[in-house]
Amino acid sequence: MTDLIDHANGTETQFTEMALANHLLRASQNAEKESALDCKECGEQIPEARREASKGCQLCIDCQQLADRGQL
Ligand SMILES: [Zn+2]
Repeated sequence: MTDLIDHANGTETQFTEMALANHLLRASQNAEKESALDCKECGEQIPEARREASKGCQLCIDCQQLADRGQL
């Protein structure tokens, strides 16, 4: 009887950890792939090509270059 309960508890814990891991994985993937439609700095529309090429980008090319140089 004790073995049965231990087994059941172990299975449930495993399932919960897997579900949590999957949830966190999905959440982080979505966050990485979410590119902004407009530049967060100047409000210019970010071209589709850039949004595709740089998943998760939040700045237009001009502002990104300034940010990379530490000028923003
Ligand atoms: Zn910009």
